[in-house]
Amino acid sequence: MQDARKLLAKYYGYTDFRPGQAEIISSLISGTDTLAVMPTGAGKSLCYQLPALALPGTAIVISPLISLMKDQIDALQGMGIPAAYINSSLSGAEANERLYNARRGRYKLLYVAPERLESEYFQAAVQELEISLLAIDEAHCVSQWGHDFRPSYRAIGPFIGRLANRPVVGAFTATATDEVKRDVIELLALRNPATYYTGVDRANLSFAVCRGENRKEFVLKYVAASKGKAGIIYAATRKEVDNLYAVLRKAGWPAGRYHAGLGDEERKKSQEAFIRDDIGVMVATNAFGMGIDKPDVRYVIHYNMPKSMESYYQEAGRAGRDGEPGECILLYGAQDVQLQKFLIEQSVSDSERKAGEYAKLKAMVDYCHTPACLRRHILGYFGEAALAGECGNCGNCNDGNDPADITAVAQKVLACVARLKERYGVSLVADVLKVRR
Ligand code: ADP
Ligand code: ZN
Repeated sequence: MQDARKLLAKYYGYTDFRPGQAEIISSLISGTDTLAVMPTGAGKSLCYQLPALALPGTAIVISPLISLMKDQIDALQGMGIPAAYINSSLSGAEANERLYNARRGRYKLLYVAPERLESEYFQAAVQELEISLLAIDEAHCVSQWGHDFRPSYRAIGPFIGRLANRPVVGAFTATATDEVKRDVIELLALRNPATYYTGVDRANLSFAVCRGENRKEFVLKYVAASKGKAGIIYAATRKEVDNLYAVLRKAGWPAGRYHAGLGDEERKKSQEAFIRDDIGVMVATNAFGMGIDKPDVRYVIHYNMPKSMESYYQEAGRAGRDGEPGECILLYGAQDVQLQKFLIEQSVSDSERKAGEYAKLKAMVDYCHTPACLRRHILGYFGEAALAGECGNCGNCNDGNDPADITAVAQKVLACVARLKERYGVSLVADVLKVRR
């Protein structure tokens, strides 16, 4: 571990490990298969990159996203670490050249997309390689119970089984439910794995759920009050993203947008502009964010309720990765439930899986309605021992206005009346409010 610390300082310029990193790194270096469950932003990449540097040979990193690979490789090369990726964005000739270099041991890390593992050519080439470590990023993608099942992840277990010299295997995920953990261990064929769990709590994040707000108005006000801060606004559909984006632009805010319906070029541009702080607020579907390393995102607003607590926590967790405060706000409207149900019906046919998705949706709706501490609710959902008291840093904990603070209470009542007026008209509300003594 002395060596690992030296490498940490030399390449990354960090003085300390974050919670869990040292244990996970030493577990892998000692040759023990390892399952690491770490929340987004906890620093997973370092946990396989350092063992890759410390061990002889080349580490193979399996990662689901092309954009993520390129960013990570750029970062590694920037630190002077020889690394490359192979995925479908390369021409056949480029891929072969990298494979050729890999066989000669020229890389410390080689990132590949899971699809590549099924190529016979790749399999043959890899047999000649001294593999130091096999790391699987976003390992929950192997599980149908996860929120991001990718069939190509099912090729990983058999691939490992065919390696003549099986290396140590590390699986990394932010998803901690028992079913997912079980699937990861079984389907990736981990051998007596050590499991590390760094805890899901992100103390620097605050959480709030706003129900029945006028969402557009809320966002406009919030963005105005957050000038100069970077934020992400997640909406459920491309259309919703386009609309909100137009609203923000019209109001003069430097917004960007991101969803799978845009061309590669436009997506890349707006992503880069966001990272460089050229645009302050990114309006996006959940296609945005995985693998985007922007540590100083100060707020994440969900314009619609997402499909599960797993998705919510992963997306909200993109706030405050630098450890400074981040605000996570969910704008809940009852229509969101209908939309998510519709999406489940559209995308899932297997009845067992469907039931699972509905159960996840229900848990998400429960979160939106709980009057109790939101952080406690989140930790409880992910199976973590509850906090001793209330967190004091979520919408529900901070909602308990001091009854003596009559101004705050009056403000709430007025806001409530205004909302009712909007919905039911002045006269009805006036009638209702004529309280008899
Ligand atoms: P994850 O994949 O778990 O979401 P990353 O690996 O992308 O997280 O790391 C999140 C951020 O934390 C990155 O900006 C990374 O450089 C930083 N980081 C990771 N480990 C450390 C450390 N030991 N000290 C300081 N910063 C770190
Ligand atoms: Zn709380």
